[in-house]
Amino acid sequence: MNDLTLPTYEDVAAAARRIEGHAHRTPVMTSRTLDAAIGAQVFFKCENLQRMGAFKFRGGFNALSKFDAAQRRAGVVAFSSGNHAQAIALSARILGIPATIVMPNDAPAMKVAATKGYGATVVSYDRYTEDREQIGRDLARKHGFTLIPPYDHPDVIAGQGTAAKELIEEVSPLDAFYAPLGGGGLLSGSALALRALSPKTRIVGVEPEAGNDGQQSFRSGAIVHIDVPKTIADGAQTQHLGHYTFGVIQSAVDDIQTASDAELVDAMAFAAARMKIVVEPTGCLGLAAVRREATALRGQRIGVLLSGGNVDLARMCELLGARPA
Ligand SMILES: *Cc1c(COP(=O)(O)O)cnc(C)c1O
Repeated sequence: MNDLTLPTYEDVAAAARRIEGHAHRTPVMTSRTLDAAIGAQVFFKCENLQRMGAFKFRGGFNALSKFDAAQRRAGVVAFSSGNHAQAIALSARILGIPATIVMPNDAPAMKVAATKGYGATVVSYDRYTEDREQIGRDLARKHGFTLIPPYDHPDVIAGQGTAAKELIEEVSPLDAFYAPLGGGGLLSGSALALRALSPKTRIVGVEPEAGNDGQQSFRSGAIVHIDVPKTIADGAQTQHLGHYTFGVIQSAVDDIQTASDAELVDAMAFAAARMKIVVEPTGCLGLAAVRREATALRGQRIGVLLSGGNVDLARMCELLGARPA
């Protein structure tokens, strides 16, 4: 795996041209309350307001746009219980490509319904006894589908980098940038964009405290595998970084930090109460780290990527209600 050709900023720029007119150019928000509290200027890139509710539409659409005629006819397969499933299903519908999504049979009914609503065929499996990657590969072989993984793919990474590209184009270079980290598609794509457009920015990935495999990998120089972490950040319950994402992260990212579930709930409450926006727990990882780091960030211009807003409202009420006032 040492001979991987890593994606570059040129790939992010090409992805930006492909998604134009299909993905939203999401708004950049600020909060006077937060800026006053930490004595800094924070710019939020609101991917919670992206189509299907998360940045994953960018990478999914970019990857599917590159299919040749035979791939388009045969179709795409993806495995995911979360935002990647909806990103592939929606992108496939827009591009007229048949999609099959492999989802656990205990996936939230709402997510299964949303995926089917975009016209995808859902194949369910038992997450305790079956291997979803194997099922995905078998379907790909049998039907000639192209498999698009949730993060470890150059076209997915390049697409995810377009959000940070838009942010810098809108607010000019930044001193620091914080983004959630799961498998690393978002962080590595962002790093490609930032190294090209804002080279002095300190780039920080933030993952759940319960699953700091990215931090361990970054520090040890080799990809560390962990058990499925128990955290409310369901978009970052990944067990390991990918080979492409780790390659980019190692060469272009400055630090990896963690946030606890309690810090995520506090950040979610802040986004709702102060900024009037719904951000899912995983989407709050960067904001949580910035609030904790506050004193070290005084006087800086900081970008924070809010990665998604797909949280069931009943679940959100439950999380916020359980928090000490
Ligand atoms: C997938 C996802 C992440 C993590 O992205 P990676 O590319 O896997 O690091 C973060 N936030 C949300 C909302 C997601 O859906």
